[in-house]
Amino acid sequence: MKAIKRNILLNPGPSTTTDTVKYAQVVPDICPREKDFGGLMKGLREDLVKIVHGDLDKYTSVLFCGSGTINIDVCINSLLPEGKKVLVVDNGAYSTRAVEVCQFYGLPHIDLKFPVDQRPDLAVVEETLKNNPDIGLVHTTHNETGTGILNPIREIGALAHKYGAVFTVDTTSTYAMRPIDIEKDNIDFCMASAQKGLMAFTGLSFVVGNRAIIEKSKDYPKRSYYCNLWLQYDFFERTGEMHFTPPVQTIYSTIQALKEYWAEGEEAKWARHTRVFNAINKGLDDLGFRQVIKPEWRTGLVSSAIYPDDPNWSFEAVHDYCYERGFTIYPGKISTTNTFRLCALGAIDEADIVDFFKVFREALEKNNIAIPVKYND
Ligand SMILES: *Cc1c(COP(=O)(O)O)cnc(C)c1O
Repeated sequence: MKAIKRNILLNPGPSTTTDTVKYAQVVPDICPREKDFGGLMKGLREDLVKIVHGDLDKYTSVLFCGSGTINIDVCINSLLPEGKKVLVVDNGAYSTRAVEVCQFYGLPHIDLKFPVDQRPDLAVVEETLKNNPDIGLVHTTHNETGTGILNPIREIGALAHKYGAVFTVDTTSTYAMRPIDIEKDNIDFCMASAQKGLMAFTGLSFVVGNRAIIEKSKDYPKRSYYCNLWLQYDFFERTGEMHFTPPVQTIYSTIQALKEYWAEGEEAKWARHTRVFNAINKGLDDLGFRQVIKPEWRTGLVSSAIYPDDPNWSFEAVHDYCYERGFTIYPGKISTTNTFRLCALGAIDEADIVDFFKVFREALEKNNIAIPVKYND
């Protein structure tokens, strides 16, 4: 097996992959309607439930061909009964995306906004549920990838259930990294894509959730043809296949990535991401960078650093210097503050971050950016 150039991706997905996962895509051509392929998908679907410790009788997973946003679209448009409303607990760009899905489908919704650097106020969430008995679905984001803040999903889920609503959580940037227990965390539906925590490739996304609720949603309004949860679930249950062509090569590589996931183990993998995250924070602290989210609220996967007030600061110049040397850094996603992000996902470890900060420091020096970096106030 020929080694492939290893890039260290510090962007919030797709993530750095192992060569064994890359090569798992190189397989004989196969028609995905063959039984051999259907058999692969059954095991894959079960593994995706096991990652969040779901009981296979109660929970299932439904696969889609698309990037992660398809899951948000599917959950919101498929799980809202007639005459009910969506509540989005929104403290960042990814929850705002769910609000946009509501807008595009013309669904009644409440966009319950909180500042991007704050956790949602649970008393306000409860008040909103109490005052709006027609809320049928509550949605939020576990790790708001735009900033790296961790939202209290277990508590929000408990409130959703207390007021009789279904709880959907965008776990795209925590799934298979920060441990999740679907039942204990009060989640009815969570979601992710192969290119994030699983460290495989783009093209396969999946919703993991409560089978009984999916079956109930059979009679809900059908708002999309391609992106309906029940239709896709029903097709899988009857035939073992995706309704339309699956991302064949991505599925092969995801199966390899799952083998590597189980071999590394949930605890060891989370410990590795934590090591990487701590090394990122140490590197940023050593250079004097300020961050958006205070330490005790960080998920442990995304660092969001504020641009210094240095006339020589140029994200593009620093980015390009690092990129040419195999390290990818990423802009932020906050409209009011200029930030860049360094993320701890992927097949990387502490030593990669140490190497990165050597290059990053050089990039600052080459661009005459003061170290430690300067802020005006
Ligand atoms: C990456 C990500 C998504 C999906 O984004 P795509 O660009 O569609 O893959 C959705 N939600 C969160 C929280 C994410 O981090």
